[in-house]
Amino acid sequence: MTNILDFDLIELKNWMNTNGEKEFRAKQVFDCIYKYVWDFDEMANIPKATKEKLKKAFYIGIPSLVTSFSSLDGSTEKYLLKFQDGNMIECVVMKYNYGNSICVSTQVGCRMGCKFCASTIDGLVRNITSGEILSQVILAQKTINERISNIVLMGSGEPLDNFENVIKFINLVNAEYGLNIGQRHITISTSGIVPKIYELADKKLQSTLAISLHAPNDSARKEIMPIANKYSIEQLLNSCNYYIEKTNKRISFEYSLVKGINDNEKNALELAKLIKGMLCHVNLIPVNKVTEKNYEKPSKEAIRKFAYILKENGIECTVRKEMGSDINAACGQLRRDFIKENETRC
Ligand code: SAH
Repeated sequence: MTNILDFDLIELKNWMNTNGEKEFRAKQVFDCIYKYVWDFDEMANIPKATKEKLKKAFYIGIPSLVTSFSSLDGSTEKYLLKFQDGNMIECVVMKYNYGNSICVSTQVGCRMGCKFCASTIDGLVRNITSGEILSQVILAQKTINERISNIVLMGSGEPLDNFENVIKFINLVNAEYGLNIGQRHITISTSGIVPKIYELADKKLQSTLAISLHAPNDSARKEIMPIANKYSIEQLLNSCNYYIEKTNKRISFEYSLVKGINDNEKNALELAKLIKGMLCHVNLIPVNKVTEKNYEKPSKEAIRKFAYILKENGIECTVRKEMGSDINAACGQLRRDFIKENETRC
């Protein structure tokens, strides 16, 4: 059986054609799905015979909402979702004054092995399909009963390790008959798979590329990110410059500040020197505590100092507002906590 959400309009029209149905039925089916009708039998304007054919070929792959949490200030909601095959993932909705943003997962687990990240502890389970990434946005939108206008691919998984599905997802979510969220409102975050950054640049999307840099030199980066053994920072920055050249978009460098690891003044100066002159911006993320790891965030003063040094040296930077840390909003933590809790219960 195929998840109908993995199909775009053209594919569903073709399916209708080859199955002796009228092409316009495809749009009607999607209209129902985007109006939250997730059972073929309940699609009022679709003839019974067509429904029967659809039911034999497709399922509507909206995950079930296992549990959800709201942060105390109401700005963040985190959902634990379960796909048809039983795999669970999480996504987070953040409510800003400029609109609602969602952080979606692109893989169940992850194989990148970043030391401070919970998603990667048990490795990669499987890729999430384009329709399954889309379904996180559809379900969240229904749950909050408000439009979602921005998407960040920063949940669990490495988007560029699931390249085809991510590209197709961007097309699906952009569709006028669907959620109509434009490329400019999407941020793709990567730990830095260099060849895929070139490939992405060649697609000339208008999406923001966020690079998880986290260290100002190769040896420090290798300590916390295994991918640094494969690609040097120089290679990574070359690919970023290529992305800028092709898209004219500013790169966002993510730098998770970890106490005693990458947070001293020397690190800040080195970082400033490294990226000076690039069309970029640094997003400082005080590291979120992960139960299994003993990394800690630096003091407020150390964070302020780090940001100050970057700014003094001409680098635009922001410190990520800590939203939802009271509900374990860091990547992969909720899924792990849930699985562990159920393991101990058994
Ligand atoms: N694999 C992609 C996207 C997922 S992670 C990537 O590496 O970019 C999204 C961001 O959150 C990355 O910058 C990641 O390094 C960061 N991150 C993961 N765990 C974190 C934690 N415990 N504290 C702070 N940032 C974390």
